[in-house]
Amino acid sequence: MNKPAFADSLHPISWPEGFRAAASFTFDVDAESCTIAHDPTSTRRMSLMSHQSYGPKIAVPRILQILERQDIKGTFFIPGFTAESYPDVVRRIADAGHEIGHHGYLHEPMQGIDAATEASYLDRGLDALHKVAGIRPVGYRAPWWELNWQSPALLADRGFLYDSSLLDGDAPYRMAVADGDSRDIVEIPVDWALDDWEQYAFYPGVTGSGVIESPAKALEMWTLEAQAHHSQGSCFVLTNHPFISGRPSRAVALEQLIERVKDLDGMWVTTLAEIAGHTASTVQEIHTHARIDVPTFPGAGATFRPAQVRNPEPALP
Ligand SMILES: [Zn+2]
Repeated sequence: MNKPAFADSLHPISWPEGFRAAASFTFDVDAESCTIAHDPTSTRRMSLMSHQSYGPKIAVPRILQILERQDIKGTFFIPGFTAESYPDVVRRIADAGHEIGHHGYLHEPMQGIDAATEASYLDRGLDALHKVAGIRPVGYRAPWWELNWQSPALLADRGFLYDSSLLDGDAPYRMAVADGDSRDIVEIPVDWALDDWEQYAFYPGVTGSGVIESPAKALEMWTLEAQAHHSQGSCFVLTNHPFISGRPSRAVALEQLIERVKDLDGMWVTTLAEIAGHTASTVQEIHTHARIDVPTFPGAGATFRPAQVRNPEPALP
């Protein structure tokens, strides 16, 4: 592996032979689910629903054409409700050889829910993907990237290989699922600067400030980020939403970005599942995360439990 100048020193990784960095293009096919999860009455709004359905109806086919032209595979995170609403779209994505990951059932709000509730969302999402396309995903992305401390163990219980919802690294790593639990899963970190929502999303009274950025600006900032990941040997993960980035000029910019990323010498452009499999089989260190505990009574301060790194027990001969 080339020794990078300013790599993610906490999560060192060697890429497969011939590669010096990795990149993945991911698509969260939220469609109507993220809107309904926030406000069930939003289904009464015909125009708002049409704004969301543009994703599976118009944008996903366009994105699939781009990926085919560019000869790369993407990772599509699909809520169970989207899968049940647009089964043909899900099957078309799978038939084209792309990865399908879990993204909740109805893109449920994740903050403050207990483990049993979260488990029910996971299981309902799994059931939907299986029913619609016979898919058992190995990857999970929490709605709104909002992972809970209980989530990694729930994912391990269900055989998931990786999560892609945390924001504390430039490269994938293995993380312990909980204190005192010997199991681990792979984490492939994300970043709000590599999410199309902040650049483009706007619906009056629902999301966005009303400022819609130029695709040229998004292309510029995402190119810079890809080049930096390439130079430091880490992992570029772009998150796009079809109903946002599948509009005409944005889709053109996305294809230009894919061309630029492919042109970076030694960039491994692949799915998150491939990156996670490589990480699980080559990285030894297992990370825990820092926890902050605040007592329930006021004035008692807070305690900080630092993150740790351990090596797994050597396997018995
Ligand atoms: Zn989402």
